[in-house]
Amino acid sequence: MGPLPKKRHSISRRNKRRSHDGLTLKQLDRCENCGSYRLAHHVCPNCGQYRGRQVVDVTSEK
Ligand SMILES: [Zn+2]
Repeated sequence: MGPLPKKRHSISRRNKRRSHDGLTLKQLDRCENCGSYRLAHHVCPNCGQYRGRQVVDVTSEK
């Protein structure tokens, strides 16, 4: 016999295993420019700056 699982795990056991899966929060950082929350290593969605540089022009909104 190959390395196959002998019995299928129950739904409850599967759910218990996955209970730890959704616990990692997205890494949030404060923008150095405007102080709003922003994803780490991402351009700030509020002011468009990243590491003190204007990357996205947010002044020309439609
Ligand atoms: Zn900002």
